[in-house]
Amino acid sequence: MKKNLILIFSLLLPAAPLRAEDPLNIDTHALRMSTPTPEEKIAKAEGERRDMLKAALEKIDALLNKEPGEDAGAPVLNDEDHKVVQAMADWLYIPTMNTAFWARLRKARGLISQNQALSGRAPFRRDDEDKNDYAYVKDAGDPSAGIYFTSSYMSASSNCRREVQTHEYFHFIVGAQHFYSTKDAEEAVKCPHHLAEFVSAIATGVTESCSSAASEH
Ligand SMILES: [Zn+2]
Repeated sequence: MKKNLILIFSLLLPAAPLRAEDPLNIDTHALRMSTPTPEEKIAKAEGERRDMLKAALEKIDALLNKEPGEDAGAPVLNDEDHKVVQAMADWLYIPTMNTAFWARLRKARGLISQNQALSGRAPFRRDDEDKNDYAYVKDAGDPSAGIYFTSSYMSASSNCRREVQTHEYFHFIVGAQHFYSTKDAEEAVKCPHHLAEFVSAIATGVTESCSSAASEH
């Protein structure tokens, strides 16, 4: 009983003396901790993009190592392999592990590797006027023209931002077009949205984190 009373009493006491003489100093510190700047948001998503590409490549390579030779039976797959196989079905529309599957997986691996190689090549810029997109590339043929991030990007979730960032780099590889609603394998592998979601599905298991996919230009 005595112990309980002491506990209740201690909860009523502030953990540290209130600094009434300097409340602003405390507030601005708390604000800084909880609200990253736009540049910090871009940098965090960029780091997560690189992590996702690396993780996806590792899992894809592990599966590619199991590609059966002629007359060999089906490979033995583990849970990580199954994630890649599922992502191939869900995002690149190759649901069967046949010859076309392995060829398309190698092609996707190459595109992801190219995305990785572009790290640091595109300057990050801001466009607070754009109301339609999360981000866009100025020129899909020229990374040095930059990736532009809008106020919608800044207010999106961090999972959305990392998917957008991955998407934008794919534009420098496959071009300016999208095939958002396609279920066709040939179109999907040329669509930055499908490729970014393919990477995200394999690396994190999380996809479609943006409220409107059509806004990821
Ligand atoms: Zn796009």
